[in-house]
Amino acid sequence: MQLLRQYATLPERFSTPLQSRPFQAPLLIALNEPLAIALGLSPEWLKSPAGMSLLSHGLRPDGLPSVAMAYAGHQFGHFVPSLGDGRAMLVGELQDLHGQVWDLHLKGSGPTPFSRRGDGHAALGPVLREYIVSEAMAALGIPTTRALAALATGENVLRETLVPGGVIARIATSHIRVGTFQYFAARGDLEALHILIDHMIERVYPELATSPNRALALLETVVRRQARLVAQWMLVGFIHGVMNTDNMSIAGETIDFGPCAFLDAYDPGQVFSFIDQNGRYAYGQQPDMALWNLGRLAEALLPCIDPDTDSAVKMATEALTGFDDIFGEAYLAGWRQKLGLATEQKSDTTLISRLLTLMHRSEADFTLTFRELCNVAQTGKALSFLNIFKDQAPATVWLQDWQHRLAPETISAEERALAMKAVNPRIIPRNHHIEAVITAAVAGNYAPFHRLREALSHPFDDADDGLDQPPAQHEQVRNTFCG
Ligand code: AMP
Ligand code: MG
Ligand code: MG
Repeated sequence: MQLLRQYATLPERFSTPLQSRPFQAPLLIALNEPLAIALGLSPEWLKSPAGMSLLSHGLRPDGLPSVAMAYAGHQFGHFVPSLGDGRAMLVGELQDLHGQVWDLHLKGSGPTPFSRRGDGHAALGPVLREYIVSEAMAALGIPTTRALAALATGENVLRETLVPGGVIARIATSHIRVGTFQYFAARGDLEALHILIDHMIERVYPELATSPNRALALLETVVRRQARLVAQWMLVGFIHGVMNTDNMSIAGETIDFGPCAFLDAYDPGQVFSFIDQNGRYAYGQQPDMALWNLGRLAEALLPCIDPDTDSAVKMATEALTGFDDIFGEAYLAGWRQKLGLATEQKSDTTLISRLLTLMHRSEADFTLTFRELCNVAQTGKALSFLNIFKDQAPATVWLQDWQHRLAPETISAEERALAMKAVNPRIIPRNHHIEAVITAAVAGNYAPFHRLREALSHPFDDADDGLDQPPAQHEQVRNTFCG
């Protein structure tokens, strides 16, 4: 294993070295062995006492300290100049077998100088949620941090009640956030901003190294990555829940899975997060919120884009203007794929929005609707699809229009159905399944957790496990919590 120390060796103000404290009785609940192997890590070693010390409290084999990363952020629209890793640590960077470098980061690993009023710990429930959802996102083909391991600490943490504590070890292309740039911008630390830009380009975007304006090129790239990322979220019904600028990755990966959730019934106004009382980060708000966050990144980068503020603003604004087009293109292309449209017609947007309107009115289950549409494409039988809708007459009309739209396309029904099933998952991490898994795990039974994560590693395959079914009324989860 090659465990580097790249970010930690940036100037002192970028991070704080930590003294890691062992937990009483850490227990490895899950180890992502395929990911470990891809990273050049030996699963056997990770399970050894030295490996467990690395995964639970960030004790590096070389004895050098793990660090807490400094960052700021806008939380629900309000700027907080110092947040930082309050219950997390960057252990170091791993170089995989292809020479690519990844961050190894722990969450729930103990207090840091950034902990403020928090205890520095994580409850086991949210750790398992992050494990399941981040790995499900990866299996869905959506850029995301990855879960390397989940551990129970053997210690309790106080939330509403005493609950078991946990740690997640995760892998990311980078943990640098919009809020990292804001941290230095708020301090007028131009030198640090340039170091951060250089670090980001060297690590993640080497193709930008020769750009005449590296700050602007970085902004344009992050705008593009985030626009495509949020389009992908929307297409599977994912709600991040806390899209604060400290939770938005410069590498364009989904990061910081807190009270995240997937839509059951389609509703653009859907919010699950208990702390999001005003619906700022509702499902349908996410593209706007991503652009708002990118505006904050642009502000932070202004002095690096051009010393003349007016021209910097002009260039940054133009970069931000690209968001709508890039998002719109990715979103529309994704919808065409979901509906099995191999060609493009102007009227497609109407066809798509008509279906969404019907789904909203019928409180149709998002995932099931599209999976049943795949079955219509495959068999021509419409009954199961139509049964999803309370009012079947307009759904029948829509289905006929969809079939007319498909008629001139040259691909076979079989090919179309296959293509649709490759983008419309049969299963997503449903909130009620996650809750059930967490309840069992807290009681010491991890079998349901393993079953669910195994199933979600192939979300597009047909299977008869019942996991595709929406929650019954009494199973519906209304709120999700951080933790
Ligand atoms: P989050 O909303 O989870 O991304 O966290 C926002 C900020 O709060 C970050 O600076 C976290 O490190 C910090 N934080 C969240 N939970 C805790 C905790 N239990 N102890 C210390 N800091 C925390
Ligand atoms: Mg320092
Ligand atoms: Mg966070």
